[in-house]
Amino acid sequence: MAFELHSLGYDYAALEPYIDARTMEIHYTKHHQAYVNNLNNALANTEWQSKSLEELLGNVSKLPVAVRNNGGGHYNHTLFWKLLANNGGNGPTGELSDALVKSFGSFDKFKELFTNAAMTRFGSGWAWLVKSGSELKITSTPNQDNPLMDNAEVKGVPILGVDVWEHAYYLKYQNRRNEYLAAFWNVVNWDEVGKRLKK
Ligand code: MN
Repeated sequence: MAFELHSLGYDYAALEPYIDARTMEIHYTKHHQAYVNNLNNALANTEWQSKSLEELLGNVSKLPVAVRNNGGGHYNHTLFWKLLANNGGNGPTGELSDALVKSFGSFDKFKELFTNAAMTRFGSGWAWLVKSGSELKITSTPNQDNPLMDNAEVKGVPILGVDVWEHAYYLKYQNRRNEYLAAFWNVVNWDEVGKRLKK
């Protein structure tokens, strides 16, 4: 069964003024759709086309680079849309808050380290908060790679991620990745991040 672009779950304008509607529309309808289409094309008539996305990512070193790039792109964006909310930004609570303090010292320190990972990712890629066994780790990956890939430097299950490709922010912020990242904290769906911690 072919992979599909799932509903965004909110309007393109829902994350204004932090992420603008035009960026959301292009990002979702053009960029994400292209990853889905190219992934399906790359898998067509191969033994891999019946596998789950997670299985593909876990075997990515054995697969064509088109599966790595577009399978990663589909997974990363599907996750990213769920991690954003127009009533976000309230900050983590409960177990997630405790886990962040335990791992990084404080919520502010976590934000600083995560932002630094996102700022220092040269070129296109993602910054991640991952669950790795009982630990939380911050990492970043190039292109559409992610920590579920068998060849990832830091492996784990991503529970928060931020897209730092220029297509994610250039229309509104141009080269100012720092301003985009500062705005990002206002639209993080912490309830969703907390759910992923417990999975
Ligand atoms: Mn993107």
